[in-house]
Amino acid sequence: MILADELYRFYRAGDEEVKALRGVSLKADPGEIVLVTGPSGSGKSTLLACLAGLDEPDGGTVWIDQSRISHRPEPERAALRARSIGVVFQSGNLIEHLTVRQNLDLAQKLTGQRDAAWADQVLDLTGLATRAGARPSTLSGGEAARAGLAVALANRPAVLLADEPTGELDRTTEAGILTLLRAQAERPCAVVIASHSPAVRRFADRVLTLHDGRIT
Ligand code: ADP
Ligand code: MG
Repeated sequence: MILADELYRFYRAGDEEVKALRGVSLKADPGEIVLVTGPSGSGKSTLLACLAGLDEPDGGTVWIDQSRISHRPEPERAALRARSIGVVFQSGNLIEHLTVRQNLDLAQKLTGQRDAAWADQVLDLTGLATRAGARPSTLSGGEAARAGLAVALANRPAVLLADEPTGELDRTTEAGILTLLRAQAERPCAVVIASHSPAVRRFADRVLTLHDGRIT
Protein backbone atom coordinates (compact mmCIF):
# COMPACT_ATOMS: atom_id res chain seq x y z
CA MET A 1 0.00 0.00 0.00
CA ILE A 2 1.16 3.54 -0.69
CA LEU A 3 -0.27 6.52 1.10
CA ALA A 4 0.47 10.20 0.56
CA ASP A 5 -0.93 12.76 2.95
CA GLU A 6 -1.12 16.44 1.98
CA LEU A 7 2.01 16.71 -0.13
CA TYR A 8 3.44 20.13 -0.92
CA ARG A 9 6.41 20.79 -3.18
CA PHE A 10 7.63 24.26 -4.11
CA TYR A 11 10.44 25.19 -6.46
CA ARG A 12 12.13 28.54 -6.03
CA ALA A 13 14.28 30.31 -8.59
CA GLY A 14 15.12 33.86 -7.45
CA ASP A 15 11.82 35.64 -6.80
CA GLU A 16 9.84 33.06 -8.75
CA GLU A 17 8.07 30.28 -6.90
CA VAL A 18 6.41 27.34 -8.63
CA LYS A 19 3.92 25.51 -6.45
CA ALA A 20 4.26 22.09 -8.09
CA LEU A 21 2.18 20.24 -5.45
CA ARG A 22 -0.37 21.94 -3.23
CA GLY A 23 -1.81 19.50 -0.75
CA VAL A 24 -2.03 16.28 -2.77
CA SER A 25 -3.23 13.14 -0.97
CA LEU A 26 -3.63 9.71 -2.48
CA LYS A 27 -3.80 6.07 -1.56
CA ALA A 28 -3.24 2.99 -3.67
CA ASP A 29 -4.01 -0.43 -2.25
CA PRO A 30 -2.42 -3.71 -3.33
CA GLY A 31 -4.26 -4.94 -6.42
CA GLU A 32 -5.25 -1.45 -7.51
CA ILE A 33 -4.14 0.61 -10.51
CA VAL A 34 -4.44 4.34 -9.92
CA LEU A 35 -3.97 6.78 -12.79
CA VAL A 36 -2.69 10.31 -12.17
CA THR A 37 -3.53 12.46 -15.15
CA GLY A 38 -3.63 16.19 -15.91
CA PRO A 39 -2.04 18.67 -18.30
CA SER A 40 1.69 19.03 -18.80
CA GLY A 41 3.19 20.92 -15.86
CA SER A 42 0.36 19.97 -13.47
CA GLY A 43 2.73 18.15 -11.11
CA LYS A 44 2.47 14.48 -12.10
CA SER A 45 6.21 13.77 -12.29
CA THR A 46 6.86 15.75 -9.11
CA LEU A 47 4.23 13.67 -7.34
CA LEU A 48 5.71 10.37 -8.52
CA ALA A 49 9.21 11.48 -7.51
CA CYS A 50 7.95 12.32 -4.02
CA LEU A 51 6.11 8.98 -3.79
CA ALA A 52 9.31 7.18 -4.79
CA GLY A 53 11.39 9.04 -2.21
CA LEU A 54 13.54 10.40 -5.04
CA ASP A 55 12.43 13.90 -4.13
CA GLU A 56 11.49 15.25 -0.71
CA PRO A 57 8.16 17.03 -0.33
CA ASP A 58 8.28 20.41 1.45
CA GLY A 59 5.26 19.30 3.44
CA GLY A 60 3.25 16.15 3.93
CA THR A 61 4.12 12.52 4.37
CA VAL A 62 4.52 9.42 2.19
CA TRP A 63 4.09 5.93 3.63
CA ILE A 64 5.00 2.64 1.98
CA ASP A 65 3.12 0.00 3.95
CA GLN A 66 4.09 0.76 7.55
CA SER A 67 7.26 2.71 6.69
CA ARG A 68 7.53 6.45 6.23
CA ILE A 69 9.73 7.22 3.22
CA SER A 70 9.53 11.02 3.27
CA HIS A 71 11.74 13.13 5.56
CA ARG A 72 14.39 10.50 6.11
CA PRO A 73 18.07 10.45 5.20
CA GLU A 74 18.65 9.53 1.56
CA PRO A 75 20.37 6.17 2.29
CA GLU A 76 17.29 5.04 4.25
CA ARG A 77 14.98 6.19 1.46
CA ALA A 78 17.16 4.41 -1.09
CA ALA A 79 17.08 1.17 0.90
CA LEU A 80 13.31 1.29 1.30
CA ARG A 81 12.89 2.13 -2.38
CA ALA A 82 15.13 -0.73 -3.50
CA ARG A 83 13.18 -3.19 -1.37
CA SER A 84 9.60 -2.06 -1.87
CA ILE A 85 9.20 0.23 -4.87
CA GLY A 86 9.60 -0.32 -8.59
CA VAL A 87 10.06 2.92 -10.50
CA VAL A 88 9.64 3.32 -14.26
CA PHE A 89 10.58 6.58 -15.94
CA GLN A 90 10.09 7.56 -19.56
CA SER A 91 13.79 7.01 -20.09
CA GLY A 92 16.94 6.41 -18.10
CA ASN A 93 15.71 3.21 -16.44
CA LEU A 94 18.66 1.19 -17.69
CA ILE A 95 22.39 1.46 -17.18
CA GLU A 96 23.86 1.64 -20.67
CA HIS A 97 27.01 -0.43 -20.27
CA LEU A 98 25.14 -3.37 -18.69
CA THR A 99 22.98 -5.89 -20.53
CA VAL A 100 19.27 -6.20 -19.77
CA ARG A 101 19.95 -9.20 -17.54
CA GLN A 102 22.81 -7.43 -15.74
CA ASN A 103 20.53 -4.45 -15.11
CA LEU A 104 18.07 -6.81 -13.41
CA ASP A 105 20.83 -8.50 -11.43
CA LEU A 106 22.14 -5.15 -10.24
CA ALA A 107 18.67 -4.07 -9.07
CA GLN A 108 18.44 -7.29 -7.05
CA LYS A 109 21.95 -6.91 -5.68
CA LEU A 110 21.01 -3.52 -4.20
CA THR A 111 18.64 -5.29 -1.81
CA GLY A 112 21.06 -8.11 -1.05
CA GLN A 113 18.43 -10.62 -2.21
CA ARG A 114 19.33 -12.32 -5.47
CA ASP A 115 16.55 -14.37 -7.02
CA ALA A 116 17.67 -15.65 -10.41
CA ALA A 117 14.46 -17.64 -10.94
CA TRP A 118 12.33 -14.52 -10.52
CA ALA A 119 14.65 -12.55 -12.82
CA ASP A 120 14.14 -15.25 -15.49
CA GLN A 121 10.41 -15.10 -14.95
CA VAL A 122 10.37 -11.31 -15.29
CA LEU A 123 12.31 -11.57 -18.55
CA ASP A 124 9.73 -14.08 -19.81
CA LEU A 125 6.80 -11.95 -18.67
CA THR A 126 8.18 -8.91 -20.46
CA GLY A 127 8.99 -10.93 -23.58
CA LEU A 128 12.69 -10.21 -23.24
CA ALA A 129 14.10 -13.69 -22.67
CA THR A 130 15.86 -13.64 -26.04
CA ARG A 131 17.10 -10.07 -25.47
CA ALA A 132 18.56 -10.67 -22.01
CA GLY A 133 22.11 -10.28 -23.32
CA ALA A 134 21.39 -7.09 -25.26
CA ARG A 135 22.75 -3.67 -24.36
CA PRO A 136 20.06 -1.00 -23.88
CA SER A 137 21.27 1.01 -26.89
CA THR A 138 20.40 -1.92 -29.18
CA LEU A 139 16.79 -2.25 -27.98
CA SER A 140 13.75 -1.00 -29.90
CA GLY A 141 11.48 1.56 -28.21
CA GLY A 142 9.03 -1.12 -27.13
CA GLU A 143 11.79 -3.41 -25.88
CA ALA A 144 13.39 -0.58 -23.92
CA ALA A 145 10.04 0.23 -22.29
CA ARG A 146 9.59 -3.43 -21.34
CA ALA A 147 13.17 -3.65 -20.07
CA GLY A 148 12.60 -0.60 -17.85
CA LEU A 149 9.54 -2.33 -16.47
CA ALA A 150 11.48 -5.57 -15.98
CA VAL A 151 14.11 -3.79 -13.88
CA ALA A 152 11.37 -2.09 -11.84
CA LEU A 153 9.93 -5.55 -11.11
CA ALA A 154 13.28 -7.12 -10.20
CA ASN A 155 12.52 -7.19 -6.48
CA ARG A 156 8.78 -8.00 -6.62
CA PRO A 157 7.95 -4.52 -5.37
CA ALA A 158 4.87 -3.91 -3.23
CA VAL A 159 4.44 -0.62 -5.05
CA LEU A 160 5.02 0.16 -8.73
CA LEU A 161 5.28 3.79 -9.88
CA ALA A 162 5.35 4.49 -13.61
CA ASP A 163 5.72 7.93 -15.21
CA GLU A 164 4.25 7.88 -18.74
CA PRO A 165 5.21 4.21 -19.22
CA THR A 166 3.55 4.05 -22.63
CA GLY A 167 4.36 7.61 -23.71
CA GLU A 168 6.17 6.88 -26.94
CA LEU A 169 4.69 3.50 -27.82
CA ASP A 170 2.32 2.25 -30.51
CA ARG A 171 -1.06 0.95 -29.38
CA THR A 172 -0.18 -2.75 -29.58
CA THR A 173 2.93 -2.31 -27.44
CA GLU A 174 0.94 -0.11 -25.06
CA ALA A 175 -1.71 -2.81 -24.69
CA GLY A 176 1.01 -5.35 -23.89
CA ILE A 177 2.47 -3.12 -21.18
CA LEU A 178 -0.98 -2.54 -19.68
CA THR A 179 -1.65 -6.29 -19.57
CA LEU A 180 1.64 -6.72 -17.72
CA LEU A 181 0.81 -3.95 -15.26
CA ARG A 182 -2.55 -5.60 -14.55
CA ALA A 183 -0.89 -8.95 -13.89
CA GLN A 184 1.54 -7.26 -11.49
CA ALA A 185 -1.30 -5.48 -9.69
CA GLU A 186 -2.88 -8.88 -9.13
CA ARG A 187 0.34 -10.29 -7.60
CA PRO A 188 -0.72 -8.08 -5.59
CA CYS A 189 1.02 -4.77 -5.98
CA ALA A 190 -0.22 -1.18 -5.70
CA VAL A 191 0.31 0.54 -9.07
CA VAL A 192 0.36 4.30 -9.67
CA ILE A 193 0.73 5.51 -13.26
CA ALA A 194 1.12 9.09 -14.52
CA SER A 195 -0.17 9.29 -18.07
CA HIS A 196 -2.14 11.24 -20.67
CA SER A 197 -3.09 8.17 -22.64
CA PRO A 198 -6.82 7.46 -23.17
CA ALA A 199 -6.02 3.73 -23.18
CA VAL A 200 -4.50 3.98 -19.71
CA ARG A 201 -7.52 5.99 -18.54
CA ARG A 202 -9.91 3.25 -19.68
CA PHE A 203 -7.77 0.66 -17.98
CA ALA A 204 -7.23 2.25 -14.55
CA ASP A 205 -9.33 1.36 -11.50
CA ARG A 206 -9.30 4.96 -10.31
CA VAL A 207 -8.38 8.28 -11.96
CA LEU A 208 -7.02 11.34 -10.15
CA THR A 209 -6.69 14.56 -12.14
CA LEU A 210 -4.09 17.18 -11.24
CA HIS A 211 -4.40 20.85 -12.14
CA ASP A 212 -1.72 23.26 -10.98
CA GLY A 213 -0.57 20.92 -8.23
CA ARG A 214 -4.00 20.12 -6.86
CA ILE A 215 -6.34 17.16 -7.34
CA THR A 216 -9.58 18.34 -8.92
P1 ADP B 1 4.05 17.13 -15.20
O1 ADP B 1 4.80 15.87 -14.96
O2 ADP B 1 2.59 17.04 -14.86
O3 ADP B 1 4.24 17.65 -16.60
P2 ADP B 1 5.99 18.33 -13.39
O4 ADP B 1 5.80 17.64 -12.09
O5 ADP B 1 7.12 17.93 -14.24
O6 ADP B 1 4.61 18.26 -14.21
O7 ADP B 1 6.12 19.89 -13.12
C1 ADP B 1 5.22 20.61 -12.28
C2 ADP B 1 5.67 22.07 -12.19
O8 ADP B 1 6.88 22.15 -11.46
C3 ADP B 1 5.94 22.70 -13.55
O9 ADP B 1 5.54 24.05 -13.49
C4 ADP B 1 7.43 22.58 -13.69
O10 ADP B 1 7.94 23.60 -14.52
C5 ADP B 1 7.90 22.73 -12.27
N1 ADP B 1 9.16 22.01 -11.98
C6 ADP B 1 9.33 20.66 -12.04
N2 ADP B 1 10.59 20.32 -11.70
C7 ADP B 1 11.23 21.48 -11.42
C8 ADP B 1 12.56 21.82 -10.99
N3 ADP B 1 13.47 20.88 -10.77
N4 ADP B 1 12.84 23.12 -10.80
C9 ADP B 1 11.92 24.08 -10.98
N5 ADP B 1 10.66 23.84 -11.38
C10 ADP B 1 10.31 22.57 -11.60
MG1 MG C 1 5.83 14.63 -16.24
